[in-house]
Amino acid sequence: MELYGTTKPSCGKKLKQDAGVDDRKPPDNNKALLKKISKNNDDNESSNFTNKKEQNRKSVGLQKKYQSYTHWRSSCYITSLLELLYTNYLHTIPWWSANVGIIPKNTGLKNLYISFTIRDTVNTPGAKNIKSTLNEAREIIRRHVLEEKWEEDNQFGSLTQWFVNIISEEKKSITLMSQLCVLGLRMWSCRSGHFKISPTPIRPLFPINGVEEFNSAFFNNNQNLIGQVSTLFLQRNQLISKIFPDQPCPYNRANLHQCTNREISYEEYIISLPHTLIFEVTQRDGYNYNLSNQLNFPFQLGYQEDGVSMEFMLTARVYSTSSSGQHFYSEVIRSFNDQSGVYKYDDLNDGMAVLESEDLTSLSGCKPRTVLVSYRSNDSDSHSIYSNIRTS
Ligand SMILES: [Zn+2]
Repeated sequence: MELYGTTKPSCGKKLKQDAGVDDRKPPDNNKALLKKISKNNDDNESSNFTNKKEQNRKSVGLQKKYQSYTHWRSSCYITSLLELLYTNYLHTIPWWSANVGIIPKNTGLKNLYISFTIRDTVNTPGAKNIKSTLNEAREIIRRHVLEEKWEEDNQFGSLTQWFVNIISEEKKSITLMSQLCVLGLRMWSCRSGHFKISPTPIRPLFPINGVEEFNSAFFNNNQNLIGQVSTLFLQRNQLISKIFPDQPCPYNRANLHQCTNREISYEEYIISLPHTLIFEVTQRDGYNYNLSNQLNFPFQLGYQEDGVSMEFMLTARVYSTSSSGQHFYSEVIRSFNDQSGVYKYDDLNDGMAVLESEDLTSLSGCKPRTVLVSYRSNDSDSHSIYSNIRTS
């Protein structure tokens, strides 16, 4: 049914020529893209021929493409996410070098940092052997994934599992976790005042179960906001409070004494937001991704409460070519010479990322088969203010 959906090794070279057919945006068709861009410029300038110089400056200004990881052994489940992570890393290099660079052990996160620093060298003017440098950067991660037996060689892997595993290796470090994960607390209590408190599961991805995520009373009363990720984010930052009508008191589990209360109140509260915030449109029954068609990811994601104002900017997305995964590719916002554009990276396009749009907001909105969407924080001070308010 799907181009990539038949057999596991179908991520291979034989499909290269078909890489862009499925989504009708050929990743390797530079001619059509250039034609489109020059047409746009013609439209803009048609009434003003004297502005030719400006037009030329503009058309050479924004880089049309850049080299990234080439296809190798069905590793698009690694490289498409690496592309997203690297894009975010570029906004937080000082944090990575000060906090991850100093990790003495050869952990997955340290390897991720080493991989990024190797990749950094291709951005220097006159860099040579760019493809082999990028191969080296990719192999550091791929070898780690294979050595840890998270995936098998030459097979499709899970887009998110290897990264979640890398992060959970470090879960004892609050410094690292608070940069990369949403941290929160959960509390259960019964009418007699027995309670249990524990952290929310530490994961680097903020899950969204498709539009089913919008099933709260608030969204039932505001049906026009269903699918608006900005509203979901505001809701999630509030205290989540539920009553479970029939659950055992948390005291019973500890065998301290018998409590017969069955009505348990549950509260969940975010205490820290990461600098790199990654939403995951989750998989249903561990297999098919939930539909993203109605999920509207904004360009800016804001949060305000008394004394704190936070803002996140859209940086990248990863897509699958079918609802079950199979092949993954990315769109990222990258800057070159102080100009930014939206680039599409698909390893089947010889690892070449191609300029798709100069309109950065074109990366926002509802897009089918979206699996991951990342944001970067605009201001790191607001994070500590936020955490201070929430833990005081
Ligand atoms: Zn109790």
